[in-house]
Amino acid sequence: MKGHFQPAHVLEAMRSQGYGLSLATVYRTLSLLAQAGIVTRVGASDDPDSAGSWYEHTWRREHHDHLVCTHCGAVIEFSYPAIEVLQEAVAREHGFVLEGHSLELKGICARCRENITGGVGKT
Ligand SMILES: [Zn+2]
Ligand SMILES: [Zn+2]
Ligand SMILES: [Zn+2]
Repeated sequence: MKGHFQPAHVLEAMRSQGYGLSLATVYRTLSLLAQAGIVTRVGASDDPDSAGSWYEHTWRREHHDHLVCTHCGAVIEFSYPAIEVLQEAVAREHGFVLEGHSLELKGICARCRENITGGVGKT
């Protein structure tokens, strides 16, 4: 799976290849992969079994962070060097050696804002 995906997408892809999996199996497998650091859970939900959970393949991928729309669940990737540097500065101040982080900025995406306001207020 490339990009961001949900358990239901995995199920669909596997079934189209002739595998008769259950959604529970997909959840279980994803949480094992997450423990192993091969996938990471991103997205608005903190409940690992929620259908709203998004995963992504993080093994040997370049680091990036996420903007998550709390309205439609869209996940937008970004990398912003200043943020990375500041996080390291915070860690250093606390005598902390950073091993990693996942930064998730929550809000309402441009498309949802447009739908909510009907385009009014759009700059
Ligand atoms: Zn980052
Ligand atoms: Zn949205
Ligand atoms: Zn991502």
